[in-house]
Amino acid sequence: MDLIKIMETFPTQEDCIAYLERLRWHGSPECPQCESPHVRRRTEQAIGRIGRYNCHDCRSSFKVTHGTLFHGTKIPLQKWFLAISLMETNAKKRLSSCQLSRDIGLPQKACWRMMMAIRVSEMGKDNVLLQGIVEADETYIGGKRKKDYDKEEGEPRKRGRGTAKDVVLGVVARGGKVVAERLENAKGSTIAEFIKKFVKTEDSELYTDQYRGYSEIGKQMKHETMNRSQKWEPGGIHTNTMEGFWSFVKRAWYGSHHHYSTAYTPLYLAETCYKYNYRDENIFAKFLTEGMSGEM
Ligand SMILES: [Zn+2]
Repeated sequence: MDLIKIMETFPTQEDCIAYLERLRWHGSPECPQCESPHVRRRTEQAIGRIGRYNCHDCRSSFKVTHGTLFHGTKIPLQKWFLAISLMETNAKKRLSSCQLSRDIGLPQKACWRMMMAIRVSEMGKDNVLLQGIVEADETYIGGKRKKDYDKEEGEPRKRGRGTAKDVVLGVVARGGKVVAERLENAKGSTIAEFIKKFVKTEDSELYTDQYRGYSEIGKQMKHETMNRSQKWEPGGIHTNTMEGFWSFVKRAWYGSHHHYSTAYTPLYLAETCYKYNYRDENIFAKFLTEGMSGEM
């Protein structure tokens, strides 16, 4: 959904709340504490109190945002909706908190916190289990130079704190979803554990490059390694899908982070995977629907 559409569809706090209530309760509000349907909406005019309900059974009061990303926020929901839309719909470019600050008229720090909260709610939301032809590949992000890594050892060569890159492993099903996470190291056992977590190994065939870190998982499932000298074919043994995803990650990454901290690698990866996996859907509606069905 584009920004104009959001501003037209949700001009007021009341409109945003009504939308969230439809997503969460489908017309039958219930108390999040005791699940009682005996609740009544208060008539309040103060913006922070709009949409508050009383429960007649347990006597608690609550709003539709209870237990969600928006719980207790003082920021108008329209600004949250705009932030989600700006972050999610422009899949090619990563939004910076400075840009968001200019776009929605809130301080940069508040925007940064909103964006982090949105990323946190994307983490682990996908219960991905890939099957079929799957490609795995590892990459290194953050830090400065590729030389900081010793691929043979599968360990970062640390030169003082913060200079090492993060090792990230990804696996993608051809024509399907991707999972990418930071790993402790790129050793065979770590890689095998990751692949088994996200791939239905008995029904799949794994394609990788010739890095020996893949040999352990290769003993536990069908595994082919690509030969660089071979002629490339679309359905052949290659990891181009995964490499395409990495370029997507890196473009977004280095485009907006001048001094990048590896502390947030898992969150940025979650965001990028989420956008990639739902690139053909209405991510805005999907994100809020999931958030309001108690999965956030
Ligand atoms: Zn109750």
